[in-house]
Amino acid sequence: MSQKKTNGEVIFVGAGPGDPELITVKGVRALERADRVIYAGSLVNPELLGLCRQGTPVHDSAHLTLEEVISLMSEGTSHGETIVRLHTGDPSMYGAIKEQFDHLDQQSIPYSVIPGVSSVFAAAAAIKREFTLPDISQTLILTRLAGRTPVPEREALAKLAKHQASMAIFLSVQDMQSVVDALLEGGYPDSTPIAVIAKASWPDEEILQGTLETIVEKVKLAGIRKQAQILVGDFLDPANGYARSKLYDPTFTHEYRQGSKP
Ligand code: SAH
Repeated sequence: MSQKKTNGEVIFVGAGPGDPELITVKGVRALERADRVIYAGSLVNPELLGLCRQGTPVHDSAHLTLEEVISLMSEGTSHGETIVRLHTGDPSMYGAIKEQFDHLDQQSIPYSVIPGVSSVFAAAAAIKREFTLPDISQTLILTRLAGRTPVPEREALAKLAKHQASMAIFLSVQDMQSVVDALLEGGYPDSTPIAVIAKASWPDEEILQGTLETIVEKVKLAGIRKQAQILVGDFLDPANGYARSKLYDPTFTHEYRQGSKP
């Protein structure tokens, strides 16, 4: 007689930015053993669903409310199911996961989280850049413009721009003019380099590079209105060069290597 599983669980999995090879090994294993998958259909690559066992029920959460997602989780786990909740990129950025955790906590349903490759890192990889260059910036700000979801006033883009750190702006390409206005207001010169990477790691990835002066027109011409990262800062094109790293400097001594005399 087969034994009925009673210990259901929910596993939140970062699907990565699009390329199905950019999910973690752990994420693949979770999909392979899932009894049910709820995925964010607007951005998750559906090819990943091919990793599930044949016949595994899959639900596109684009058509569901939070309450409907929770009731699928609650019903499934009560029958012992392992449910994978597949979120785009890394679930901790704009993933609306905390509200799901809170419901699961209330119902004492166990869950865990497997991180993913965020689109911010896929975008940097696409243009082969490093956010943290010595003497340029040692900080990366991840943010967005206010949309239907408000952004606290103290985090307004113009205020963050005052730091002149490296910046990655999510969910904002549809209003490129406001992005550029806020960056200029914050004090970036209009020669500051900026890049827009749409659908990073997908076959139809698009890369636009320019300055605060030119980028609005380029985005308009390319017709990019969604699914893009906006990266801004001198790390993109350090006009006056940057300092080499200490870590790999032959004269620098650290825990693992004795430096030579300068
Ligand atoms: N959790 C996701 C972000 C979800 S919010 C992550 O870590 O990437 C959705 C926003 O992410 C989009 O508006 C866009 O700004 C960005 N995004 C998601 N996938 C992308 C991709 N493949 N290329 C560029 N930007 C992407």
